[in-house]
Amino acid sequence: MAKTSDGNLAPPLITKPLSEVLRLPVGHVDMSTFDPAAKAGFPGDKQDAPAMTDALAPELSDLQERLFAAGRVEESRTQRILVVLQGMDTSGKGGVIRHAIGMVDPQGVKIKAFKAPTEEERAHHYLWRIERELPPPGLIGIFDRSHYEDVLVVRVHNLVEESVWSQRYDEINAWEEDLVDQGIVLIKCFLNISSGEQKQRLIARLEDPTKHWKYNPGDVDERAKWPAYQEAYRAVLERCNTERAPWYVIPSDRKWYRNWAVAQLLVEHLRALGLQWPVADFDVTAEKARVAAS
Ligand code: AMP
Ligand code: MG
Repeated sequence: MAKTSDGNLAPPLITKPLSEVLRLPVGHVDMSTFDPAAKAGFPGDKQDAPAMTDALAPELSDLQERLFAAGRVEESRTQRILVVLQGMDTSGKGGVIRHAIGMVDPQGVKIKAFKAPTEEERAHHYLWRIERELPPPGLIGIFDRSHYEDVLVVRVHNLVEESVWSQRYDEINAWEEDLVDQGIVLIKCFLNISSGEQKQRLIARLEDPTKHWKYNPGDVDERAKWPAYQEAYRAVLERCNTERAPWYVIPSDRKWYRNWAVAQLLVEHLRALGLQWPVADFDVTAEKARVAAS
């Protein structure tokens, strides 16, 4: 790691936007071409990761505050960010929220974890419960699982007929297109872990009593359906990867890379909004005089 003039260690600089490196090209998807242990776009080694990730915190915080401020002003109220986290069990959706999203002021984020739908939710269209959790103006929305479960777990477990789920890809594309039109920037992240790494993480959960709460015996049954899930993810990544709502494939076997990558993607997308501080809608000079005289 390079040293700065005051002798501190400076984190290495990235040379290419990560959103370019990890953005999945539109078109045919072959899952075997993704390396879950890759460190794509990361300019250092594991030892650089904490400094690289921490280095994002001040900018992330500044950008989030700008977004929040913009949410108060009529003309910029439409600007919103939605991070969609999908991945197999143990891929680290919770870890990303803790370590990457955790750097943002909690007042500026709206996090929603989607579980199996309730009876009430099942009585509605599958997008109904999703729509209700979209981030309001000024907030960064985080989805831990999402509408994609309706073409993942639902497809793998035949929870609805194929004639029903097979219609959903186009429907999701149209719905997301509509969100983008409304000013919502989607950052769809597929946390890609290998089957071997998942096994290690499940074993680690069992060996550590402080992690037993995270272990769900049902995860092993899901694991047995690994190939079916891979095919379901492949279909999602191929059919729901559009120019305006692309997927980012995040190599997730290395937790430190995964956390840095999602934080970096978030910073890049926030930067791209070009957020300006709202201009005062009152006379600043006059207000200064009033405060001084008070
Ligand atoms: P977890 O994220 O580990 O807390 O588990 C949430 C569970 O909810 C997972 O087993 C998901 O597959 C399940 N789930 C989420 N969305 C749906 C859905 N639309 N239909 C059925 N199951 C779902
Ligand atoms: Mg789970």
